[in-house]
Amino acid sequence: MKTLRLILGDQLNSQHSWFQNTNNEMTYCMFEMRQETDYVKHHIQKVIGFFAAMRAFAVILESQGHKVIYYKITDDNNTQDLTKNIETLINEKNIESFEYMQPDEYRLDKQLQDLCNKLSIKTNAVDTEHFYTTRDELKSFFEGKKQYLMENFYRHMRKKHDVLVVSDQPEGGKWNYDKSNRKKWKGDEEIPHYKSFRNAVDEILNDLEAAQVKTFGHFTTKTFSYPIDREQALEQLNYFCEQLLIKFGDFQDAMHTEEEYLYHSRISFAMNIKLVSPKEVVDTVIDYYRAHKSEIDISQVEGFVRQILGWREYMRGMYWALMPDYKSENYLENSNTLPEFFWTGNTKMNCLKHAITNSLDNAYAHHIQRLMITGNYALLTQIDPNEVDAWYLGIYIDAIEWVQLPNTRGMSQYADGGKIATKPYVSSGSYINKMSNYCGSCHYNHKEKVTEDACPFNSLYWNFLDDKRHVLKDNRRMGMMYSLLDKMDKDNLHQMKQRAQHIIESPDDF
Ligand SMILES: Cc1cc2nc3c(=O)[nH]c(=O)nc-3n(C[C@H](O)[C@H](O)[C@H](O)COP(=O)(O)OP(=O)(O)OC[C@H]3O[C@@H](n4cnc5c(N)ncnc54)[C@H](O)[C@@H]3O)c2cc1C
Ligand code: SF4
Repeated sequence: MKTLRLILGDQLNSQHSWFQNTNNEMTYCMFEMRQETDYVKHHIQKVIGFFAAMRAFAVILESQGHKVIYYKITDDNNTQDLTKNIETLINEKNIESFEYMQPDEYRLDKQLQDLCNKLSIKTNAVDTEHFYTTRDELKSFFEGKKQYLMENFYRHMRKKHDVLVVSDQPEGGKWNYDKSNRKKWKGDEEIPHYKSFRNAVDEILNDLEAAQVKTFGHFTTKTFSYPIDREQALEQLNYFCEQLLIKFGDFQDAMHTEEEYLYHSRISFAMNIKLVSPKEVVDTVIDYYRAHKSEIDISQVEGFVRQILGWREYMRGMYWALMPDYKSENYLENSNTLPEFFWTGNTKMNCLKHAITNSLDNAYAHHIQRLMITGNYALLTQIDPNEVDAWYLGIYIDAIEWVQLPNTRGMSQYADGGKIATKPYVSSGSYINKMSNYCGSCHYNHKEKVTEDACPFNSLYWNFLDDKRHVLKDNRRMGMMYSLLDKMDKDNLHQMKQRAQHIIESPDDF
């Protein structure tokens, strides 16, 4: 039966059972489309990365003897629309059956289901064979529970997949070494240079220009540094094990003006487009640890495993459990506009300047920069979560809605009222000073609250607590902060609120 199989840009899993045999009746199709470049404004490196990896994947499939139809963004027969491209091919090639891998995004899932409902030929959707869990597994696990706690899910995953578990108990004695993942990096420990590839992408750049795709962000190196095929992804993973794992856990939350990546793996893009699976990543890291147990502490390894087996699978499960309503939640009723400096990095606040410049330069920021610098500021200044989402979805190389949305709207902006985070992730300047060297060279003073040179995070923090008292005061984890707020001198609070208001009204002056 003549079958058309669709491969989306984030479904580049060469280990998938689809590709184990070749078949003359089978045609694979892949499309670069305006539909995908335009649903949000993306960072230039993100678009380059997706197209480069897709083109490389098509070449590999063809070299293995598979039939592939590939539409570049500039091709005349490309309608730039997924539904139309598929319908046209089905007619032109007399296709009798259409198959696709389940998309990870709600938007594409709906589009493909709608298409299949219209088609008169046989259709079928298969699993991507990438994640540990199925779409609905987390929802079933938490059935009947009030709170969907990540830690409970994570322990279940450790046991179910026998990861760092001995007789149902955590290897090393603890399930979670989070408390030992909070060291500040002071410049005295050497950080190996990050693994960078030199993928030539001139042709893609020319095509994007010809198609007039609108992007933002910088691309000064002219070669693309993230992995674009499986071989490179495995190289990146091995490099992480050999060079970075040893201190990953210790400095997981640290930030530094001179070090964008510290000991982070930069593996998210490769994993999210499915060049490697989470199980391969976790197994490789644990194998390496077992062979080097005398050098590497279990806290470094558990810290990494938790991110992938825990957080990554948890976020995906939450996305499918809570969509589509999740995308419009705004529990704190925030409605301010994102400051202009998020698109330029032009601000005197050193922490934001570094986190945003890193994001614009590399389409990357690590977890704590995303959560406790940009996310923290956006929440404290009460920005509309739709604007925050659009920024995060556009700027990061690894941003795909299933993982971006629960992290941003939920974990970072508390717009879901605490379904993911048990309290809002907000802090004053003192946390940022504790975890980074940003404050040392900042225009502002992290110890001051209301003076002209006072750190904006300080007044914003207390103003936020005061403004949101009606919805947050009963949160047990906020109790201590509210009792401090209650004891605060009224004039002092008034002055801080005035300063905070000024910052919120004119963010680009700070
Ligand atoms: C506001 C916000 C938005 C985010 N948006 C995204 C996003 O769009 N795409 C994305 O992949 N990650 C996102 N994250 C999670 C995290 O910041 C990135 O996965 C990480 O920075 C990628 O860099 P790395 O590969 O060097 O990660 P490492 O620090 O080396 O961690 C290893 C891997 O763990 C996984 N991981 C770590 N934390 C998380 C998490 N919270 N959720 C899911 N997976 C996680 C990633 O796959 C990552 O590659 C977001 C976090 C926040 C706070
Ligand atoms: S002083 Fe405040 S604004 Fe400046 S780097 Fe520190 S936390 Fe950021």
